[in-house]
Amino acid sequence: MKEGILIIGAGGVGRVVVHKCVQNLDVFKKITLASRTFSKCEKLQKEVNNKIDIAKVDADSIDKLVTLIEKVKPFMVLNIALPYQDLTIMEACLRTNVHYLDTANYEHPDSAKFEYKLQWAYQEKYKQKGIMGLLGSGFDPGVTNVFCAYLQKHYFDEIWNIDILDCNAGDHGYPFATNFNPEINLREVSAKGRYWENGKWIETGPLEIKQVWDYPEIGPKDSYLMYHEEMESLVKHIKGLKRIRFFMTFGESYLTHMKCLENVGMLRIDEVKVDGCKVIPLHLLKALLPDPATLGARTVGKTNIGVVAEGVKDGKHKKIYLYNVCDHQKAFKETGAQAVSYTTGVPAMIGAKLMVKGIYKKAGVYNLEELDPDPFMKELSEQGLPWQIKELS
Ligand code: NDP
Repeated sequence: MKEGILIIGAGGVGRVVVHKCVQNLDVFKKITLASRTFSKCEKLQKEVNNKIDIAKVDADSIDKLVTLIEKVKPFMVLNIALPYQDLTIMEACLRTNVHYLDTANYEHPDSAKFEYKLQWAYQEKYKQKGIMGLLGSGFDPGVTNVFCAYLQKHYFDEIWNIDILDCNAGDHGYPFATNFNPEINLREVSAKGRYWENGKWIETGPLEIKQVWDYPEIGPKDSYLMYHEEMESLVKHIKGLKRIRFFMTFGESYLTHMKCLENVGMLRIDEVKVDGCKVIPLHLLKALLPDPATLGARTVGKTNIGVVAEGVKDGKHKKIYLYNVCDHQKAFKETGAQAVSYTTGVPAMIGAKLMVKGIYKKAGVYNLEELDPDPFMKELSEQGLPWQIKELS
């Protein structure tokens, strides 16, 4: 019988997922953590008093994944490794008839472009096997999709405009570090911006559009328009939508360092020959930067991630702000990880919990706004990510 869960990836987010799943052991029953570096699994196993099993796996290999899944026999796999592994893990789940969940959209290592096309292509295959794939169950994507679905269900007849606002006001004390995997983070931030208006995608230069937003419990911050993956599914699923944009805050020091690194070629993802060795500059930079998993102890401040939606209800114009504030030190005390990993790991656990309990049970591949937001919103409040709602007009 298939029971329990298999978590793949023992990084910053994996740490939170393990801690939160152990807190919900009555639901998950049996937890196995597998990752590339076995010592990281051993460390986490010790931290949770041996309440999990561990294994080593190369998640780039479908065959190795299938062997592991057949051995563990989980109800579902939580992909908490990198976006590069989405397709191999989805394929392994298909071959072994096991449900799937991830937190980030597939991206090919050689091209900094993410899109759902290849993951959505699994829709029919998953349907035929009667298994479910839940895509993007982190915070953004993830909770931001749930927030949009909740606003659509309870507050609007039609939503016209959505702004997703992501602020990290945490201070780790380093001149430059990223709060999640540096390679994925820097590829995302240095890419061209894009937003959707009147049925079309409009491209901007990287971080070309800026606005100041006053984030509750944090204050006013420069927020830059970026492309972000949840917009691709939200434009398909939110009724009457005319415009959707995504903004993220960056401090002066982060932007100056990133620009300088970009100007000297350190963000390049092609191979460069150095003294006869082949080096990918961004991989070298990743090796030099602080490991995001170690930032927890030194990060202070808060994150605020939310959605501002504008539209109509019963003929009246409405503008509503729905957001969560998360404190870095509070997250660290509970799980040993800072708030960026915490706000991603908690929703991953919640998505899995709702699937294990059969509350989310649908054959095929889904983004979160396609499912009932109410049980997810209830869990967010109970599992450490309480949300607040404000009517702006
Ligand atoms: P880390 O780099 O800290 O952790 C990734 C983990 O995956 C590491 O333990 C790594 O192993 C493991 N891994 C990488 N490649 C393989 C492989 N081929 N086989 C097995 N294990 C592998 O990243 P984070 O924890 O910061 O991020 C995890 C995921 O969460 C990423 O996909 C990221 O994009 C996503 N994310 C989503 C957010 C959201 O809100 N939706 C926000 C932030 C992150 P090793 O230790 O050997 O390197």
